[in-house]
Amino acid sequence: MSLFERDTEIYRNRDALREDYQPAQLVGRDEEIQMYQAALQPVINGEQPNNVFLYGKTGVGKTAATRYLLSHLEEDASEYDDIDLRLTFLNCDGLTSSYQIATRLVNELRDETNQISTTGYPRATVYEMLWDDLDDLGGTNLIVLDEVDHVEDDSILYQLPRARANNNLSDAKIGIIGISNDFSFRDDLSPKVKSSLCEQEIHFPAYDASDLQKILEQRAAVAFHDDVLDDAVIPLCAAYGAKDAGDARQSIDLLMKAGDLAREEAETTTVAETHVEAGRHDLERGRIEEGISGLTQHGHLVLYSLLTLHLQDETPVRSRDVRPRYTNFAQRAGRDPLVPRRMRDHLAELAMLGLVSVTERNEGRRGGTYREYTLDMDIELILSALDEVLDDVGIHDSIQEHLLDEDVTDENTSLAQFQ
Ligand code: ADP
Ligand code: MG
Repeated sequence: MSLFERDTEIYRNRDALREDYQPAQLVGRDEEIQMYQAALQPVINGEQPNNVFLYGKTGVGKTAATRYLLSHLEEDASEYDDIDLRLTFLNCDGLTSSYQIATRLVNELRDETNQISTTGYPRATVYEMLWDDLDDLGGTNLIVLDEVDHVEDDSILYQLPRARANNNLSDAKIGIIGISNDFSFRDDLSPKVKSSLCEQEIHFPAYDASDLQKILEQRAAVAFHDDVLDDAVIPLCAAYGAKDAGDARQSIDLLMKAGDLAREEAETTTVAETHVEAGRHDLERGRIEEGISGLTQHGHLVLYSLLTLHLQDETPVRSRDVRPRYTNFAQRAGRDPLVPRRMRDHLAELAMLGLVSVTERNEGRRGGTYREYTLDMDIELILSALDEVLDDVGIHDSIQEHLLDEDVTDENTSLAQFQ
């Protein structure tokens, strides 16, 4: 008997649901694509390219639209003998300084025998190399800086778009495509950077449920065999996606998770609503665990404090009323408690992760406002992600009954219990 057997009853092409899959057509982005295409038109005309700036939340098709249009541009430009188009695509996640971007660009433009070290040069020297390399190559250069909000200093964001205006380039034409997932990034740019980098701005709005439904239908037709999905599956994935953030990536991930769960069940040959529900739960758990595990120990202590207050019906609660509990927990864990202000920062971080919700309240006649915090997440999920801090602090009385299921490890049961 073979150990591995193909099970392809459900999926026709599961890879079509993966992050790296590029759809042949984008659904429902006609307006944005049209503007984007117009912004790129000068390349085909042999003119100076525009600098283009795309912004919108994650998963709204910015990268997909860029890849789609640039691959067409590349193909169509090759029809013209007098256009020498060079595309450079950088994702700035992990490239946080102008220096890193500049060295990376130099190395992208050079062949493998001629690479430069990523440290040790003065920044101005790397820029000189970049201008020299670009001018030697000539032609039209489009440089995509995807997730450009990761770049912490704006030197390169000023230098690149203005390279010709500043007479750093004479032969090469250059255009920058900046893509940002972060709204505030654009607003925080200095005026001189904004005016050059954001010459043409294109906003990608979040998707609503009916947009997501069309996107999912298109993708499902490639990924799944006919008649495998129950009718309710795509609308449900789309509804969840629209409720969460209007993010197509999340909806596609959910559809894939549902498909995987269906596939894991013996005898099951269709994907049903129940698979979507279970898939959503799994994905949520993954997101929460990831979010919580990225916090510092003080973040965990603050969350644990809030959790116990929540279980004692003390939420919504003000930060100063979280404080005694937090101080107690920190001491039990052998840590010096943070000052109130820093503790509040941790509450704000929990809110950003979506674990906690915040309400602003008015102080009454005296004016002023204060904030109240409440837990906004499945208790079992949080508990299972707080494993370590439970070990450090001990088991608070209020969580006892929630630990009676599979969460109780041998380690936990031997821990100190307290009120
Ligand atoms: P962003 O770059 O804005 O974060 P992406 O372009 O990576 O988002 O899109 C996320 C996922 O959703 C990708 O798999 C992409 O192919 C898909 N997608 C987004 N918008 C569309 C669309 N309009 N039509 C088809 N697929 C889309
Ligand atoms: Mg992207």
